Amino acid sequence: MSIWAVVEHGQALQAIERASREPLGSEVLLDVTHAGVCHSDLHFWKGYYDMGGGKLMKLAERGVVLPRAPGHEVVGRISKLGPQAQGLELGQLCIVYPWLGCGQCDVCRSGQDNLCMKPNAIGVLQDGGFGQQVSVPHPRFLVDVGAIDPAFAATLACSGITVYSAIKKVMPLRPDEPVVLFGAGGLGLAAISMLKAMDHRQMVSVDANPAKAEAALQLGASHFVDSSQPDLIGRIQALTQGPVKAVVDFVNHSSTAAVGLELLQKNGKLVLVGVGGGEIVLSLASMIFRPRTVQGSVTGAPSDLRDVVALAQSGKLRPIPITRMPKAQANQALHLIEEGRVSGRIVLES
Ligand SMILES: [Zn+2]
Ligand SMILES: [Zn+2]
Repeated sequence: MSIWAVVEHGQALQAIERASREPLGSEVLLDVTHAGVCHSDLHFWKGYYDMGGGKLMKLAERGVVLPRAPGHEVVGRISKLGPQAQGLELGQLCIVYPWLGCGQCDVCRSGQDNLCMKPNAIGVLQDGGFGQQVSVPHPRFLVDVGAIDPAFAATLACSGITVYSAIKKVMPLRPDEPVVLFGAGGLGLAAISMLKAMDHRQMVSVDANPAKAEAALQLGASHFVDSSQPDLIGRIQALTQGPVKAVVDFVNHSSTAAVGLELLQKNGKLVLVGVGGGEIVLSLASMIFRPRTVQGSVTGAPSDLRDVVALAQSGKLRPIPITRMPKAQANQALHLIEEGRVSGRIVLES
């Protein structure tokens, strides 16, 4: 099979050949039909994350070996079933749960594969949706697409479950209690749509690019705040009538997380999701006088994918804007994201 692979970090992806293999045991092989392009594919391509304090974490330190096909938002058609793969049909169109762990530890056995300390994620540590085929170790990592648009369905495997899992961490809230959302890119927009589908009514979307206001408001944000203008905290709190219980930061950069922490009321929670990078200074005494929780959140569990797909199939979850491109334009897609020119998600089609 051919894959579009990162051969050298920061250099153009190349189409290379990989031997395909027969599925063993409970493994399932799929022909990729759709692959969403996520901001973390951009980090994967560049080869590092900004860890704050001038430190970079290189992907090689996380066990990534090149060449590797990125792409963890995958929809594919089942082409081969291992002898013990039960409950699926050849030709079935499925969403792939990509956040695989070791499959052996207590965390994996409890269904929290995304929290395994020995990750084996598709599109990171094994070839992903930028290739022609992907395989999963067990049918439990596949969810039938049903009647949803498969390009939208692909985005549920990362942006969908990531926002769902992050929102669950700030719940329960009354529908009219404000949730402040930093970032109106793929994740921020998906979060607005998700909260709306959960019948929430007060979503304040914050982004440095005012061109993103329209998409945010159309998906159901109650307000859009341009973070490039002065007095950001004052302007947000004028809309929320004071400090808030819930902030989800999909940028997770020094500039946004610091504001997020400052916006919180006593017992409020800041959930950090993006990988913008940097660091914040935490006044320790302030955590006593105004106790708050800062919680990190990474993707979601297989059960979250099932929940999100069910929500999408119910028709309540409105798709984020999707730009379809042929897979051969994978390089162009990464450049568009790098330049911040994408509203919503690019999905590569095979
Ligand atoms: Zn992603
Ligand atoms: Zn594990």
